[in-house]
Amino acid sequence: MKKLTDIQRTALWASLAVATVGLAALVWWITRRRAERNLSGTGTGGNLITAAVQQVVDTTNHIMQGQYFTISELTRSATAQSHHIDNTPTPAIRAKLEALIVNCLDPIRRIYGRPVIVSSGYRCPQLNSLVGGVSTSQHTMGEAADLVPASGGSLGALARAAIQFGDFDQLILEQAGGSKWIHVSWREGNRRHKILAYRNGRYTDITNNWETYLASWA
Ligand SMILES: [Zn+2]
Repeated sequence: MKKLTDIQRTALWASLAVATVGLAALVWWITRRRAERNLSGTGTGGNLITAAVQQVVDTTNHIMQGQYFTISELTRSATAQSHHIDNTPTPAIRAKLEALIVNCLDPIRRIYGRPVIVSSGYRCPQLNSLVGGVSTSQHTMGEAADLVPASGGSLGALARAAIQFGDFDQLILEQAGGSKWIHVSWREGNRRHKILAYRNGRYTDITNNWETYLASWA
């Protein structure tokens, strides 16, 4: 082997150093992402900077990994469990749930800035009819979730965060049997950006007067 000149030797060491730093950065990044994922459970993890980084990663790499919500949060159901109903989504529906998380639930959660609970996400047809959902419900397609603030949070502020986000298909301020929650749906393409109210078994379009409605609702 030919003897290396001083310049060649310096260049070799320099590229070796660059490669080492690059590898260390990659390991750091992977470890960090793992840690963030483990925090996601109740949607309490993350700060503004990690949220911003996450958003860039999501949109540039199309990584279908939510920051605040997990698939299991969107598929678990006490009713399904007690009735021994298997509420496991098909791969196609699972993909829609992931899209719902990344494109809609996570952005709303970021704007709201506090923990959010999914009271109902995906519902297989059997579960959906059991809870009295309409057969065409977007819950059965993996396109909708019902949200409530975690304890100490504000339903009104959560609704405002969702409205500020804006790019939903339908946002419904729902109320039945003394409970109130926010239904939000998202689908690929042709999103209607509609705001509705559901009360006493009736839907009302409040897209143009939601502010007045919300003032007395929550
Ligand atoms: Zn709903």
